[in-house]
Formats: sequence, structure tokens, C-alpha cells
Amino acid sequence: MPVIRPPSEWRSLLVRLTRGCKWNRCRFCGIYPHLGTPVFSVRTVDEVRHDIDLLSRLRPRAETAFFGDADPLEIGLESFCEIAGYLRHIFPLKRLTCYARASTLSRLGQESISTLARAGLNRVHIGLESGDAHILRFHRKGQSPAMVTKVAAWLRDAGIEISLYVLLGLGGRDHWQEHIDATAQVINDTKPEFVRLRRLWVYGDGSGIGGTECPLWKEIRAGTFIPQTPEGTVQELRLLLAGLDDLATFVVCDHENNYVHVAGVLGEDRKEMLAEIDGFLARPAAQREAHYAAVGSRI
Ligand code: SF4
Repeated sequence: MPVIRPPSEWRSLLVRLTRGCKWNRCRFCGIYPHLGTPVFSVRTVDEVRHDIDLLSRLRPRAETAFFGDADPLEIGLESFCEIAGYLRHIFPLKRLTCYARASTLSRLGQESISTLARAGLNRVHIGLESGDAHILRFHRKGQSPAMVTKVAAWLRDAGIEISLYVLLGLGGRDHWQEHIDATAQVINDTKPEFVRLRRLWVYGDGSGIGGTECPLWKEIRAGTFIPQTPEGTVQELRLLLAGLDDLATFVVCDHENNYVHVAGVLGEDRKEMLAEIDGFLARPAAQREAHYAAVGSRI
């Protein structure tokens, strides 16, 4: 089973096509080594088919499935489609999703994305993180905003839903406005079905799991990255929502690390979401500080 999955896939069959992350360079991440998978590897189609056979006995009526780990398309287009076909042959699936790096989708090309859609892939979870090119470069994300916009258009043409992940705080205290302005721009341009918001958490080596610390600590110690404050993170959330168009996109803070949780469709619920944030920011400072201190930090 994948060790990491989107919260929205909590009821899905979890099928591991690869292990870990091949890229493994993002400064804010390092999560697979931290959780015990320092080396990337690809599983064989036979191994995965065996997992699917086991799952068919455990959960024969499952209607949704998710492929992991971080970039399962690294198994290769042919193998991915073969496994998708096998899974769909066995289960009455309404939805098949996976994580994907924008750079991997870009390398595959538009024709291959259409092939993935024909193989039954319905939704792709992509880490946008930020829409700002400098911030992405600093964090070694290995993608540009233009690349995300391009692959999003291919996915849309192929009929595959797009779920983008945004990391509040990724610009630090020095570049938070550029981070949010550029991120709103990419979301407005790509019009994804979903935007899922998290806040940056720079975990240490004492997270209780025993792995290595987040690579970003090096930059923090060197003074080249100054972490955003909790209140700044909430301001970022507000600025982002204010900068988004009235899209049909469903926006959600679906991680418990978020300081304020809002959810809704931009075109219908944006005012209410902004009012909720304003209501929080209008509370006495001591109450807000107590709230920040009480919010946990978990992977
Ligand atoms: S953010 Fe994604 S691509 Fe970057 S290192 Fe982590 S898992 Fe890999």
C-alpha cells in the first residue's frame, strides 16, 4: 500500500506501482526518506497484479482506487495502462486516480495523456505547491508554472480531472505575496476541479517516526529561508481566496495542520469562506495565538 495518499482517497483501494519518489529533491519535502523509503524503485506488473488479486478478495465491491507512490507513471505508460485495465476488469470502479509530477506528464506528452484517459485514469493529483517560478526553483521542485499550465490543458482535453496541491508558506516571510499572487494566477488559468491547501511544516528529526529532518532546515539555519508566521499563513489563505476567480473549482483545506479550515466551490462559496477567515482574524490576538499553539503538526 502507498504510505502517503490524498485524504480524499481514504476509501479507495490503494495500489503501489512504485516505491518512494524518483525526484526526491524538493527542499520542503524529503518525506519518503523520512518515512523509510529513501530509494526509489519500480514494482513489476506481476507483483502489482498479485496485490490486486488479494484486494479483490478483501474488497470486491470497491468503487474507487488510487495508484502510488509519488509518481507511479514512472512505471512506464504501457505497464500503467496494463495495470489500470486489469484493475478495472476486476472491480466496478467509478474513479481511478494517482499522484503525478507535472514534469513526468510533460515528458509523456499529450498523446500519452489521452492514452491514460482511455485506460481509465479519471483524476490526477499534482503538487503545484506554488505558481511562482523563483519559489519553485529555490525549492528544487523541478517544474515551472508554464509546465503545470500546459499539462493541465492536456489533462482537460483528455477528460481527466485535475487536483492541485498548494503549500501556504512556501515563499517564506520574504516572498509570500509573490507566492500567493502567482499561485492564484496558475489556478485561474488552469481552472482545476480541486485545489487542496496545506501549510508548510518543516519537520525535524524528532517527529516520532525517526527519519531524517526536512531538507529545508539547512536553508533556515543558513538564513536563506525565513519561515512564515502562523498569522501570515492565514493571511496567505485569505489573499489566495480573494485573488481567485469565481470558478467551479472546489477548494478545501483538507489537512489537519491548517490553522483555518475552509471549503467550498469558488463560484458559490467564496464570500462565506472569506467571511470565515475574517471572523477568525477579528478574534482577540491572545485567542488567535492560543489557537495556533493548539494546532498540531503532522505528516
Ligand atoms: S514534493 Fe513530491 S516530487 Fe517533491 S520530493 Fe516530495 S514526493 Fe517527490
